[in-house]
Amino acid sequence: MTPAERFRSVWRDPAGYGRSVKQETGRSILGFFCSYAPVELIYAAGILPLRLFGTRGEISLADTHLQSYCCSLVRGGLEDALKGNLDFLDGAVFPHTCDSIQRLSDIWRLNAGFAHHFDAVLPVKLNTQSARQYMIDVLSGFCRELETAFGKQIRDADINAAICAYNQIRKQLKAVYALRSQKPGLFEPSAVHWIMTAAMVMEPAAFLRDITAFLDQIGSSAGDAPQTGRKRLMLAGGICTHPDVYDLLARAGADVVWDDLCTGARYFEGTIAEDAKDPLAAVADRYLSRSVCPAKHADITARGRHLVDAAREQGVDGVVFLQLKFCDPHAFDYPYLKQFLDSAQIPSLLIEIEDQPPPGEQLLTRLETFVDML
Ligand code: SF4
Ligand code: SF4
Repeated sequence: MTPAERFRSVWRDPAGYGRSVKQETGRSILGFFCSYAPVELIYAAGILPLRLFGTRGEISLADTHLQSYCCSLVRGGLEDALKGNLDFLDGAVFPHTCDSIQRLSDIWRLNAGFAHHFDAVLPVKLNTQSARQYMIDVLSGFCRELETAFGKQIRDADINAAICAYNQIRKQLKAVYALRSQKPGLFEPSAVHWIMTAAMVMEPAAFLRDITAFLDQIGSSAGDAPQTGRKRLMLAGGICTHPDVYDLLARAGADVVWDDLCTGARYFEGTIAEDAKDPLAAVADRYLSRSVCPAKHADITARGRHLVDAAREQGVDGVVFLQLKFCDPHAFDYPYLKQFLDSAQIPSLLIEIEDQPPPGEQLLTRLETFVDML
């Protein structure tokens, strides 16, 4: 299997990948839903952190625990857990983010039946000295909980090694994004989406090998790739699990060249100081300085400024907001983000998505209309 084929196959069946790791290595695996889960510390404990993206099937069992107006990521994740689709997990980690994730944590602990359960109650406000110290204390407590649960001591050297591994992954993901922005025609429309999914699911050393080989291969043909002449778009929002969106945008005459998604650039932004004397402080510092999610607070206009800066830096013609239905944090931020883009004269379009993609032709018409206006 080529690296590109592996990324696609992991995207198609992340649970299948997790199950095969479990069967072949017996390794402990912890699921997580959010880019604030401290993956470096989980990995330093010898555990595979594996991101959960909600279900691809019908949601029925979760409806007995959660209102239908919770986002489909939360409802779908619980559905998979209750159906036994995540039977390869040893447990899950819930960082403090939006209300839905916090309440899911309680319901999960009581009903999902896994051996281990962790809450990492990170601070909401990220721009004070006391928040930094609090974050370091929470990360330290999380390490102690992992040690107790899995019986492995986590040394600073383990954390530093995990930091190096994830730094390299983030560097390679950034290189993929930079190459796509330069030469979008080199990639199939959904290829980067498959890569990002694989990055958050695969064993880090295996992913690093594959992504390095992939970049070597695709980079060598970059010089010959013609420019596509299509409009350049950036996606913004929370989680995106619909590769169809990329295909539809391509059919509408546009390339996605960058994003501000928690399953995209927000996952790889920011490197962590390597070989730091206090590696937990180094991990905390990335969370404090990384572009912020709407469930956290850095300063009132940080997200707006970041979006406009990224759009200008990447030379995009417009921004498409992918709004997961019932995601309050992103919905609350949208009006002010749109205002920021309007003031910078960057056109934008809002699309509401669910766990199941919206009807293709209907969405295509909206995207075509938007692209035609650019
Ligand atoms: S948008 Fe941010 S807070 Fe919400 S799930 Fe994604 S990373 Fe977590
Ligand atoms: S931030 Fe939004 S999409 Fe993410 S878990 Fe919370 S409500 Fe769902």
